[in-house]
Amino acid sequence: MMNADQVKELAEVAKDAALLHGVLMRTQETPMSSELVSYAPFTLFPTPVPKAVFHQALAVQTFYNTLVDKISQDSEFLQEALASTIAVDDFTARLFKIHQMILKEGKSQDIVLGLNRSDYMLDQGGDGTSSLKQIEINTIAASFGGLSSRTPDVHRLVLTVAGRKEESQQILDNNPAAGLARGIAKAWELYGAPRAVVMFLVEESQRNIFDHRFVENELWKRGMRTIRKRFDHVSKTGFLDKEKRLFVDGQEVAVVYFRNGYMPQNYISEQAWDARLLMERSLAVKCPDINTHLAGTKKVQQVLAKPGVLERFLPDHPEAVQQIRATFAGLYTLDMGAEGDKNIAMALATPDRFVLKPQREGGGNNIYGTEICQVLEAVKESSERTAYILMDKIQPTPQQNYLLRRDAPLKISDCLSELGVFGTYVRQGTHMVMNECVGHLLRTKSSEHQDGGVAAGVAVLDNPLLI
Ligand code: ADP
Ligand code: MG
Ligand code: MG
Repeated sequence: MMNADQVKELAEVAKDAALLHGVLMRTQETPMSSELVSYAPFTLFPTPVPKAVFHQALAVQTFYNTLVDKISQDSEFLQEALASTIAVDDFTARLFKIHQMILKEGKSQDIVLGLNRSDYMLDQGGDGTSSLKQIEINTIAASFGGLSSRTPDVHRLVLTVAGRKEESQQILDNNPAAGLARGIAKAWELYGAPRAVVMFLVEESQRNIFDHRFVENELWKRGMRTIRKRFDHVSKTGFLDKEKRLFVDGQEVAVVYFRNGYMPQNYISEQAWDARLLMERSLAVKCPDINTHLAGTKKVQQVLAKPGVLERFLPDHPEAVQQIRATFAGLYTLDMGAEGDKNIAMALATPDRFVLKPQREGGGNNIYGTEICQVLEAVKESSERTAYILMDKIQPTPQQNYLLRRDAPLKISDCLSELGVFGTYVRQGTHMVMNECVGHLLRTKSSEHQDGGVAAGVAVLDNPLLI
């Protein structure tokens, strides 16, 4: 056991190691410049994760890639699955409208690039075992592939300094940044215009720019050029030529990599929506395209859990169906009708067993505990309830750790972790050119917080220590 002074000293070592290795974030005060930066929040120690479930999560990733890609190609399914949602959720409805316009006009690009992250928690069983349960899959702007490529060295150093050299050697190498960049590079190559650029579609505030930069670095090493533009840049300077090639600031764009555009607040004006439509119509490869964006909604996740739906997408792959389904937690519709009524009654009776989720991304949007009852009581008689899905709450075993965060006191906390797995795929027409699992991410939060998210200021970066 370490005493308080030793922990404090180790935390100083850890923070400096994070700075040395590039586990960085711009500060809240100066999100627009790199003149002042700090370490990205992270745990002092890595977190034990059972080997078997870790490998299970890696092994299922290429199946998830295939599944998302198949869903994205099934417009009938998307329409059916999202019908009740778009009737009441304006944001999803707007995305869906773009999807329908593109469907009518015909897609101009048959190269598809998917960079996703499937997130899991380990549900504790009564017998001391834990099972891998998917929280969600992110098909747009899945972050921390860059910084998580650098955190292993930080924890290796911390364990070494703490006299745990042997364990330090068990921290896995991880390089999602390289794997994400490989996918982008492949799509760029297939696009076939050596002078065309990769455009990172970014937000106004760029606190997490270093996470992007690791991916950009990998592209630069290959001699590719990148530009960083916001929706307003695209609406001011963007246009399509006769062949529907996208030009922004006078440069042809081969790949649009969305690191923005996943929440309503990202579309500050009608022009932002017009810019999204312009990009979707273009010949540029979109990561994600509008279909793949919709395939990552929580409503689609809930529909996938219904009997027979996975089989629709993977009819010849029973082992893929079985492995994917094994990661599903209980997911319940709140659609109008007897089944939805029954599910609402169940949630009202035992709210602590569930999480209520709207169709939102970015952390901090879900509803828990007694608030579930308040919300459901207010919406249960109206179609408004179909904006949500209900999910079993996963109960991981808490682990003690120190969360290192700027301006926060150093104290031991009961923590819960969430494991993310990065997937990259590229398809051209009917041919899957690339389909890989490219790395992992462990995020840890204090168990006082129900919801997560590093960007939301709750979770911090971590590493699994396989046991
Ligand atoms: P978002 O797209 O906003 O990240 P998530 O579904 O990942 O939405 O939920 C945000 C956070 O809420 C997760 O990181 C996790 O901490 C918590 N959470 C979500 N679903 C569950 C669940 N079924 N059980 C326990 N915690 C959950
Ligand atoms: Mg998400
Ligand atoms: Mg999430």
